[in-house]
Amino acid sequence: MPTDVVTMDKIVALCKRRGFVFPSSEIYGGLASTYDYGHYGVLLKRNVKDAWWRAMLQERDDIVALDAAILMSPKVWEASGHLASFTDPLVDCRRCGQRFRADHLGELECPEKPSKHPGEGPNCDLTEARDFNLMFETTIGPVKESGAEIYLRPETAQGIFVDFPQVMQTARKKPPFGIAQIGKSFRNEITPGNFVFRTREFEQMEMEFFVPPPDAPRWFEHWLDARMSWYVDLGIRPDHLRLRPHEEDELSHYSSATSDVEYLFPIGWSELEGIANRGDFDLRAHARHSGKKLEYFDSATNERYVPHVIEPAAGADRATLAFMVDAYDEEDVEGETRTVLRLHPQLAPVKVAVLPLVRKDGLPELAREAYEALKPVVQAEYDEGGSIGRRYRRQDEIGTPWGVTVDHQTTEDRTVTLRDRDSLEQTRVAIDELPDEILRRLREPWRSPKLDA
Ligand code: ATP
Repeated sequence: MPTDVVTMDKIVALCKRRGFVFPSSEIYGGLASTYDYGHYGVLLKRNVKDAWWRAMLQERDDIVALDAAILMSPKVWEASGHLASFTDPLVDCRRCGQRFRADHLGELECPEKPSKHPGEGPNCDLTEARDFNLMFETTIGPVKESGAEIYLRPETAQGIFVDFPQVMQTARKKPPFGIAQIGKSFRNEITPGNFVFRTREFEQMEMEFFVPPPDAPRWFEHWLDARMSWYVDLGIRPDHLRLRPHEEDELSHYSSATSDVEYLFPIGWSELEGIANRGDFDLRAHARHSGKKLEYFDSATNERYVPHVIEPAAGADRATLAFMVDAYDEEDVEGETRTVLRLHPQLAPVKVAVLPLVRKDGLPELAREAYEALKPVVQAEYDEGGSIGRRYRRQDEIGTPWGVTVDHQTTEDRTVTLRDRDSLEQTRVAIDELPDEILRRLREPWRSPKLDA
């Protein structure tokens, strides 16, 4: 099925039905654009983040990890330029009282006339655009007094810049090297929406790569390639992914070149990740404001310089949503529609489900034995409730790549059938060989069957 029939509504419904992601504080009517991740959502997003860490840390030797605090000195945001310029242009409608991002009017709907954009309805009465700072402000300490204002970080990157000297020293690294971080960020978005695509609280996966200044253009190209390959290797169809270089007037104040990795969501091509050449903007700004030296001294050449920075900045929630959208499929099996998430096995929340054919004749006991052998090795699930067809459909819907059925033959020769989610092929495998067989399959290269559809 081509992706254009995958609607956001179908993804939202599947997420709710199977407890991947659902509205937050729902018993109180929810809080607009905030979501909670349930069991399968946690497992899926964790696998996305693990794949990112693996690509950044385990498979390289020039990047180290960091987990900086969300709350930082307010001086950080003064130096970074966020207090002055982390703003979006906002317009109010005097008629309906709603607020809109002035630069997104063409994509938004007038609440009174949903067929029109804000400002185009017969009664619309928009104010002039004014800048609205996206940082969430709160106060530190028991008394709300002036000087106690702090901010929830709107990006994880600044934690990396201010920790640069500390990390470089303790990790014994010299440019080119990177610092990677995954964590929550907060932005008081004027118009959040499209499920977890744009929320006010979200998780970022950011890496700042510090390089000798003349090498920055080459490293920028390197990271464009590396990040595109990451999505493709994890199963995203290449024709649904593109790199879009920013126009001159789109570039952030700190960037000399930025390209967005975009995915063809049901809402159209939209940003998944930004890859920017930030030059020496951040290190110089923090050096100026803090009075500390944020530079590298090369004792071999007696040279001192401020490294330039290449930043791939991705969203964990957006990436998780893209992987789900790309994997979503419906197919006709014997007159019934099968909904299946054709996720890369490494991303699938559950790798293998163990299902006894019936709840008698010693089959549940053998199935439990197989499950206990798999559990220490991979995320596995045991299910004996309902018909075998129903149980398989439940697993297909959450993207479980392999299903083990324990049947009467198992009581005779201790073999089970191993069913493949995509090809529906069934092979017989000995219970004792199951953990090794699943691990072997997990390591095999994988290709989305939607590419051949
Ligand atoms: P956008 O143009 O969509 O607002 P941005 O260019 O401001 O995004 P960056 O500051 O480059 O985003 O942040 C890096 C990544 O963090 C984005 O590519 C996206 O994946 C994620 N991200 C940013 N804002 C949000 C949000 N409000 N909700 C979910 N993810 C977000």
